Amino acid sequence: MSQPVPLLDLKAQYAMIRDEVRAAVDRVMESQYFILGPEVTALEDEIAAYVQCSHGVGVSSGTDALLVALMALDIQPGDEVITTPYTFFATAGCIVRLRAKPVFVDINPVTFNIDPGQIEAAITSRTRAIIPVHLYGQMADMGPIMEIAQRHNLVVIEDAAQAIGADYHGQRAGTIGLMGCFSFFPSKNLGGFGDAGMVVTNDAALADRLRLFRNHGYRPKYYNIVVGGNFRLDAIQAAVLRVKLNYLEDWTTERQRNAADYRRLFAGAGLAINAEAFTSGAPGIVLPVELPDRRHIYNQFVIRCARRDALIQHLKEHQIGTEIYYPQPMHLQECFADLGHRPGDFPASEAAAHETLALPIYSELTEEMLSTVVETIGRFRFHD
Ligand SMILES: *Cc1c(COP(=O)(O)O)cnc(C)c1O
Repeated sequence: MSQPVPLLDLKAQYAMIRDEVRAAVDRVMESQYFILGPEVTALEDEIAAYVQCSHGVGVSSGTDALLVALMALDIQPGDEVITTPYTFFATAGCIVRLRAKPVFVDINPVTFNIDPGQIEAAITSRTRAIIPVHLYGQMADMGPIMEIAQRHNLVVIEDAAQAIGADYHGQRAGTIGLMGCFSFFPSKNLGGFGDAGMVVTNDAALADRLRLFRNHGYRPKYYNIVVGGNFRLDAIQAAVLRVKLNYLEDWTTERQRNAADYRRLFAGAGLAINAEAFTSGAPGIVLPVELPDRRHIYNQFVIRCARRDALIQHLKEHQIGTEIYYPQPMHLQECFADLGHRPGDFPASEAAAHETLALPIYSELTEEMLSTVVETIGRFRFHD
C-alpha cells in the first residue's frame, strides 16, 4: 500500500513555522491585549499592502466580512443581491440574514465562476449589488462584471475568501470591486489558528464605516449611532497571520507548481481529457482550466469526472483525501426553499455539484504523493 495523501496537512505547515508562531503568540499573551489593537492594525496594513489596496478592516471571519460589507452598504429588507448559486453557503447566507434576496446567476461551466453573460437578465429595480465569488482561487470575469455594475449603478463586493493573491489583468483579488472580503479559515491559503477575516477597500470613508459596524456601531464608546455587531478580530489570530503572511507567496508558488505537476502527470498517464471528450463519455478527468489573463492561486484543485462518487470511494480506499466543493448548489438548499427554485434552474451549477472533486494541492505535498494520486486515479474504472 502506498503512503496516505490527506486533502490538507496543516501539521506539516506548522512544523516549518512553529518557533516563529509561538514567539508571536507569546508576544500577545505577554501584552494581555487580545481584541483589535496593534497586532490587528499591523495585519490590516500588511494585508492591504499584499493585496494592493488602501485599507484593510480585520473581522472575525470571512462570513462576517461579507455580512459587515453588506451592512455598511445599508442593504435593506427586499433589496436584491446578485450572486452565484455555486459557492460556500456564507455568500448567500449573509444576504438572507439581512432579509435581502439573493438572486442567483448560473456559472460558466469551465471556470465555475458566475457567468457575466447572464447577469443583466437578473437585474431589477431592486438590485443593489453583485457578489462574484472567485472560486477555488481563480478570479471571476471582473471586466464585464464591473462594466455591467457601472451601467446599472450597482455595487460590487468580491467574495475573495478563496483567492488571496490571485489577480485579473494584474489587479489583485478584492481590489476591483468596492470591497473585497477575505477569510482566514484554517483551510484557506492564508489560514489562522481559528476564525478570522478581513474586508479591504480603497474608499477611506467606507473603511471607517466598516470599522463602525464591526464594533457595535458605537462612536464614542457606548453611544451607538448605527446597529452594528461584534465582528472584531482577535490579536492572537492577527499575530499568527502576520507570521504566515511572510510565507504566503512561497506557499502559493508551491501550490502552482503542484498544479503544473498534476497537469504533466495526468497528461502523461493519458487521463487528462477535454470538456468535449468528457461530454461524449471518454474515460478520464477534466483538469481545472487556468485562464491566461489571471493568476490562479489554487486554494483548491478541482477536477470533473464521471462516476464521481465511485472515484471518491476508490481514492478513500487508497487513503487519498478528497472533498466536494460543493455537493448542493445554493438554490436547492432547504433553508432557501421560499425562494421557489427547483432542479434545472441553474444547470451548470447542478452539473458541477454532481461531477466535481477536489484533490490534494497543499504546498507540502511531495512529488511522490502527487504521483500516488495520479497513479491511483489511473487504476479507476471510469465506466461500469
Ligand atoms: C470560506 C469561505 C467563506 C466564509 O469564510 P469563513 O471564514 O469560514 O466564515 C465565504 N465565502 C467563500 C467562497 C468561502 O470559501
